[in-house]
Formats: sequence, C-alpha cells, structure tokens
Amino acid sequence: MAQQAACWLVWPAIVALPLVLTTSELYKGVFPEQWYDTQPRDIWSEGVWPSPLGLSLGIGAVVVGQFFMLMYFCARRAGYLGSLTSVQKCGASETRKCPMADSFCASCRPYNLSEGLLTHLAQPEGFVMLGGYLIGTWMFGLMPKSYYSFEGGINWKHVVMQLLLQDGIQFGMHMLEHRFDTMVKTVTNDKVRTELYKASHKPHHRFYNPRLFDAFNGSPTDTFLMILVPLILTARLVNANVWSYMAFGSLYANWLTLIHAEYVHPWDFVFRALGLGTAADHHIHHKLQKYNFGHLFMYWDKLSGTYKNPAICPMFNSGV
Ligand SMILES: [Zn+2]
Ligand SMILES: [Zn+2]
Repeated sequence: MAQQAACWLVWPAIVALPLVLTTSELYKGVFPEQWYDTQPRDIWSEGVWPSPLGLSLGIGAVVVGQFFMLMYFCARRAGYLGSLTSVQKCGASETRKCPMADSFCASCRPYNLSEGLLTHLAQPEGFVMLGGYLIGTWMFGLMPKSYYSFEGGINWKHVVMQLLLQDGIQFGMHMLEHRFDTMVKTVTNDKVRTELYKASHKPHHRFYNPRLFDAFNGSPTDTFLMILVPLILTARLVNANVWSYMAFGSLYANWLTLIHAEYVHPWDFVFRALGLGTAADHHIHHKLQKYNFGHLFMYWDKLSGTYKNPAICPMFNSGV
C-alpha cells in the first residue's frame, strides 16, 4: 500500500525543476539578473535575441521529468512498487502459449528493458521535432511575449488551461486523422480518395497493445498535426509565463508517455473518477480505434459520445 502511495510522487517529480527553482524565488540566487527577463518582452520590436536561459530550463524541465517518470516505470515494472496488473487482460495463463498475436496482449509481449528505453529515447518524432520547435520558436522570438517573463511562479490556472486546450485541439486533430479519408470519400461519392491516415497516424496504430516506450513512436506528420499544431495554437490562447510553460510542457510530455504504459498506474482509479485519461482509456483507443480520441482528458470523448469506459469494457482491467 505504501509502495502504491509512493508512486504518486512521480507527479510532483515531473514538475521538479520549475517547482524547485520558483520556491522562495530560488532562481534569483542561482542565475544573475541579466540572464533573464523579469517582464514580458516583444523580442521582434526590440530587435534583440532572447536569452536562451528560459529555453534551456524548459528543455531541462522535460528531461528531469522524463528521468523521474522512467525511474518510476522501471521500478514498477521490476516489481519494486507494488503488484502489477496488465492494462489489457490476456485471457491465457502465463504458462500457456498465448493464442493471440504477440502485439495483442501485454502479458504475452515480453521485451528487453534496455531495448525499450533506447527505442523511447531515440524517437526522432518525439524529441528532434519537438526540440526543433521549442528552440526555433523561442530563439526567433515567435512565442507570445509573456512566455519570456520569469516574473511570478507557476500559475496553475494557466497550466490547467494549457493542458485542457492542448488536449482539446489534439482531440480534434486526432479525429481528423482518423476520419478525414472517409469524410472525403463520402462527400465526393468515392471520386476523390485521400490517404491522410496512412501518411500520418497509421504508423502509431501498428501497436494494438502499446507499451510505455511506444508513446512517441509514430511519424513526423503525426507529430506535426497532433502535437505541434496544438502547441502553436495553445501558446497563442494562453498568455503564460516561462514557469507555467515549463510545468505544462513537462506534465504534457510525461502524461502522454504514461498513458501508453502496459500496466495500470496506482492513480488510475482517481483519474477515472475525475474524467482524466488513463493507460486503459488509451489502450482502448489503440485496440478499437473508434473510441477515446482524447489523451489527457476524457471530457471531449464524453461530449462527443466516443467514450468507452475501460471499467465496463471486457478485455480491459481497470483495477489497481
Ligand atoms: Zn497512442
Ligand atoms: Zn488514433
């Protein structure tokens, strides 16, 4: 029980860097004042390059968050953090050969941990494209001016709004990727055929039963449509400061990874009660494809009638 409770600590650990640096304004004692901006700055009208400190801390926040999240997952996978339950029940005992395809069932898909870690950390879509976006938009002054300000700590209202908007826009883009081809076929009476799904999202859906390390395994087009487009729009809609941006970025990247885990997380029953996305919710999407298009919040699916509750879906186990 204590081990299961300790797992919850991964959430504050995910935002450890902005949390620590803003506590008692610690960052003011660590970095000289001329290294950062205290107020929002319009870099374009001033004609100066922005300081790379906020950018470096932002990337550092996600790296620190990923480190703790991976530590949690590896410890849990090894059995150090309480008993494990597969997200998707196999139906075959461990000793019998699984009658289903290997990719269909968590308990029948053994893999080497170092291979999993390497696969996760070497994803060009997840890290190179995202890194390019973060560096490019920051250094060329393309972020709204509030993002360059270190004034104030983490504004949790802004963080929640960023997460909600990001996931809401991502929900729309996700549905579009799945349904655009059929929509075009229907509207044009089968005269025009498109292949958006195949070119974008299909590579990520080759995993019927994903593992945590498959989270960012997809295609560049998928990353652009489902992650970068929502990020660009969310930044324009919420005028956050650098600390809120950091907390949002790390929570978003790590939560997105955690919902691909092949094991139930100890917080899942609370998340489900609050309408927040869990690994079982996302596994339903990977397997059945027509439900649960939201990732972090299931409100979008509940509103659009595409929500399937893993607790009442055979094959999925929602217990801890
Ligand atoms: Zn996925
Ligand atoms: Zn999908």
